[in-house]
Amino acid sequence: MNLEFTPEENAFRDEVRDFIANNYPQNIGTRGVQDEMSPEDMAAWHKILGQKGWSVPAWPTEYGGTGWTPTQRYIWSEENARMNTVMPLPFGVSMVGPVIYTFGSDEQKAEYLPGIRSGNVWWCQGYSEPGAGSDLASLKTTAVRDGDDYILNGQKTWTTLAQHADWGFFLCRTDPDAPKPQMGISFILVDMKSPGIEVRPIKLIDGGHEVNEVWLTDVRVPAANLIGEENKGWTYAKFLLAHERSGIAGVARSKRGVEQLKEIAAAEMLDGKPLIEDMGFATKISQLEIDLSALEITELRTLAGEQAGKGPGPESSLLKVKGTEIQQRLTELTLEAVGYYGTPDFRSFPDDGSNDFPIGPDYAHHAAPTYFNMRKTSIYGGSNEIQRNIITKMILGL
Ligand SMILES: Cc1cc2nc3c(=O)[nH]c(=O)nc-3n(C[C@H](O)[C@H](O)[C@H](O)COP(=O)(O)OP(=O)(O)OC[C@H]3O[C@@H](n4cnc5c(N)ncnc54)[C@H](O)[C@@H]3O)c2cc1C
Repeated sequence: MNLEFTPEENAFRDEVRDFIANNYPQNIGTRGVQDEMSPEDMAAWHKILGQKGWSVPAWPTEYGGTGWTPTQRYIWSEENARMNTVMPLPFGVSMVGPVIYTFGSDEQKAEYLPGIRSGNVWWCQGYSEPGAGSDLASLKTTAVRDGDDYILNGQKTWTTLAQHADWGFFLCRTDPDAPKPQMGISFILVDMKSPGIEVRPIKLIDGGHEVNEVWLTDVRVPAANLIGEENKGWTYAKFLLAHERSGIAGVARSKRGVEQLKEIAAAEMLDGKPLIEDMGFATKISQLEIDLSALEITELRTLAGEQAGKGPGPESSLLKVKGTEIQQRLTELTLEAVGYYGTPDFRSFPDDGSNDFPIGPDYAHHAAPTYFNMRKTSIYGGSNEIQRNIITKMILGL
């Protein structure tokens, strides 16, 4: 495995860096604190990349991919992390897009892929239900065939940013009598403006409205919106999850986070000295950096495998577990570094003028909401306990 970048790759890095510097909109809010971002802000960079032809780098070139090597894609995410850009949401680009171009009909490809590339169509993921998260195959939302339509009934939950979604991809039970629960599930695309869909907010502990319940009552969906074959949805759902997990490690963003943490620790004082000079705190940062370097090398090895033609496999579970543990430790240390400036989260107080005095330096204001928000990372995309089960079975062969 060669971890050195070639001169061509370094030239590519320069090109990317220049493009971001010259084109990234300067006036958009901060990702991670969703309440502070409008949907337009969240989609702004996606739309610019869509015009440039860079919004779906990993897709095959025939569907609009850039043809970049895995190393170039790695450089791309590093440069975006360095500039803290708000990247395209994963639901279209990394999740349903690959399912559509792999398993969809030509009509479906023509209808849905352009909107994903351009960033003009917002997608959400309707997998989880109140009784079906880790045990996803036990899902109960039904789709019953009625002429040229399906009629959908049920409830989804934790549906991220569904309040802005134009379309959703839903797992529904089409054969309740299948010999195994996995064999009776279908993958259906649903227009979120359809009558019978109700999106109810779930308010999270960070004060943000990032997730929702989605209720479906007699929602009529054209049968043409079925992806692939009826009752084969589990195959497509699993394909999608491997793609979802490989992006979750977030190495490049965590590297930037460590740099920020060091800056904060250099600015904060403990017993008359910068916090970063405190042996206990410096050791915690070092340990985090060591683990992050190990994760980065593991990710590069996975990329080398991809370059040799291996798709995302069970290694993505490993990257997800370590990547999300590091993301959470980073937010814990940041909160520890800012101390009492980190609490409380004033945004959750009534807006009566009594809360417009966030105390302490700017970098402290997002520490607590971000800490709370990032608890999600070890749960979504398949919880870390479930990933450990996969590693035990698929990698260790136990
Ligand atoms: C912020 C956020 C955003 C999300 N966004 C979406 C979305 O957009 N669309 C969507 O469909 N879903 C989404 N999810 C749902 C997410 O995929 C589920 O929360 C996740 O799969 C876990 O399911 P659960 O919440 O039902 O927990 P459960 O499955 O009930 O698990 C509870 C606990 O038991 C553990 N556990 C369960 N089974 C096992 C086992 N066999 N072995 C060991 N431990 C086990 C779990 O690890 C967990 O700690 C989101 C979740 C969050 C928190």
